Amino acid sequence: MQDLPEFVDGLIDRASNRLIWSLAPKTRRVATAAPLVSFTFDDVPDSAWRNGAAILEKYGARGTFYISGSLEGRIEPRRQLITREGCLGLFERGHEIGCHTFGHGKIRNYGGPALAADLDRSAQYLREIGITAHPNNFAYPYNAAWPLARRELSNRFHTCRGAGAAINRGAVDPMMLKAVEIRQPEHEARDLTHWIDDVAKNPGWLIFFTHDVKKDPTDYGVTPDTFEHLVRHCLDRGCRIATVEDAVHSLGWKDDAE
Ligand SMILES: [Zn+2]
Repeated sequence: MQDLPEFVDGLIDRASNRLIWSLAPKTRRVATAAPLVSFTFDDVPDSAWRNGAAILEKYGARGTFYISGSLEGRIEPRRQLITREGCLGLFERGHEIGCHTFGHGKIRNYGGPALAADLDRSAQYLREIGITAHPNNFAYPYNAAWPLARRELSNRFHTCRGAGAAINRGAVDPMMLKAVEIRQPEHEARDLTHWIDDVAKNPGWLIFFTHDVKKDPTDYGVTPDTFEHLVRHCLDRGCRIATVEDAVHSLGWKDDAE
């Protein structure tokens, strides 16, 4: 499936995401008196570490960073990916390190044994660089879920995160948590405060995701100023900022396996 034209590839992603939504058992409940907000980062660009993590720490909060080992230190035209030292630094400062596959391929392109091998390799990579906590949470590369991977993923992770632009409320599928993207244009990123107002009024679990956090961000990133604006807005509205794993604990999802 690697060579499909891009538009066909996109159609399959959307169809499979719809399928997984409609077939998924809603096995968990988001029951929380306090509005929960998680800030998550995919890939992860080094600016998410230098700027994003530092802003969260300034407010006593922590984030979840979904790492793909194969991207380590990669230099791209407009961003550089985190090094293993950066990744370990995040962990030592109390941030959560999640899994984003090792190879950063779409899940449906792996096939069963290849997916298991990739996830083993990812876990080994994180152990080797000094992350002593098992990665309990996963984010789909390209937010592309794949129903056939469900068993493999649910055997390994408490949660998987896609996109879906919604707040997690009521009965949810932990293998397909929804999230709101923080990305360009900047004025739209700043207006994402309406999601925070929404979750503050009617508590649930709002998960944000983004990539780089820097002055001249890529289309998939945000400026430090706007990122801080969102973090501060959460606290102003009485939301609790939690890593994904902290939220799993506080929702009581940890004890009973799916
Ligand atoms: Zn990614």
